[in-house]
Amino acid sequence: MAEAPNVYDAEPIPESARAEVERMLQSGDLFRYTAPEDAPVSLLEREFADLLGSKYALAVSSCSAALFLSLEALDLAPNTKVLIPAFTFAAVPSSVVHARLQPVLVEVGDNYRIDMTDFEAKLTDEIGAVIISHMRGHTSDMDAIMALCDAKGVPVIEDAAHSLGTTWNGQNIGTMGRVGCFSFQSYKLVNAGEGGILITDDADLVARAVIMSGAYEHNWKKHKGPEGANSSELEEAFARWQNQLPLYNLRLSNLSAAIIRSQLPEVARRVEAGRFNHDYVADQLNTSAWLQVPPPLAPENRAPDSIQFNLQGFASDAEAKAFADAAATRGVKVQIFGLSSDNARAFWNWNFIGEQGDLRQTRTMLMRACDVRLPTRLTQSELDLISTALLSAADEVKAEERAYGT
Ligand SMILES: *Cc1c(COP(=O)(O)O)cnc(C)c1O
Repeated sequence: MAEAPNVYDAEPIPESARAEVERMLQSGDLFRYTAPEDAPVSLLEREFADLLGSKYALAVSSCSAALFLSLEALDLAPNTKVLIPAFTFAAVPSSVVHARLQPVLVEVGDNYRIDMTDFEAKLTDEIGAVIISHMRGHTSDMDAIMALCDAKGVPVIEDAAHSLGTTWNGQNIGTMGRVGCFSFQSYKLVNAGEGGILITDDADLVARAVIMSGAYEHNWKKHKGPEGANSSELEEAFARWQNQLPLYNLRLSNLSAAIIRSQLPEVARRVEAGRFNHDYVADQLNTSAWLQVPPPLAPENRAPDSIQFNLQGFASDAEAKAFADAAATRGVKVQIFGLSSDNARAFWNWNFIGEQGDLRQTRTMLMRACDVRLPTRLTQSELDLISTALLSAADEVKAEERAYGT
């Protein structure tokens, strides 16, 4: 039998990055603020903002840095409460703690999306900001979330770290909230090893974030708005914040920007391939009585590079673990979010955020929700190997249960 593919290898970096990297190795011009204009980081910011359809972009060292700077740029009082989903990566509550704010967790349902009843109940007058994590690209009901937050004047930060290319009602994820944050860490759609970017239409917010990211003295002059736009709103904002803010130095290097820029023309193809792969495997998994891939919400068009599905009718944790073991024997690594030890996406492992009470709905989901990487480069026969392994692993565990009554 053919072996299941390695799902951790990255795609090669496009050839077009090489000449640019070689040029930088020759010149040593790696710092974004050395060149008088058009440094690779500045070009990346313009290209990314144009690609997503927003006015401003700020490239930084990671999506975590982008989330932290977004929170800092909102200028909230210390210890203000920030509503975040209970199913997200530990970077999200960490960015809140980093900004000296208090995370409040909201329940997430077994379709991996924010439970809107709990969201509405927890969006009290104490909440100063909301972070929506489009976890693994699953988009919560952004129409309902934006309506509730707009009505209360609460700013929304979109954590679109892993959702580049996803759309909601045809609009790009990351452009609905006040600010959207993306990651270029190696497991995301665009891979620079590390890196992040935030996008916004708000001149004051971006001016604050630019300065705090480390645009010391007058380096902010190298940040521009869209081509041909009136630049005075941005210049006025920078003038307002000159010397008023700490400098956290979370900048991106020109080398990383060159690696990222070479992949932007690949985004559309990767999105298409990722969607095809996901839906192809989802259709096969959904033929099983034991596996269920939740459908997308109607306005959502995803850009997945992994698949999540729920184990159904697996009464015990031992049985769920037996499924993961049976899949591993077939060469496919399944992570069950709540059953792998110290998982960074399990809220009970975030001991640094203080007591939150139990989030029973999210906990129940995490104990049976499985995660399998499906890099966009996989071929149809490799996808078949993965689906077959998962289906037969579930059948094997369930057959044993019937035979031995365990
Ligand atoms: C990867 C990820 C992050 C963190 O991104 P970094 O660039 O590694 O800081 C945050 N949120 C989600 C949902 C992610 O998937």
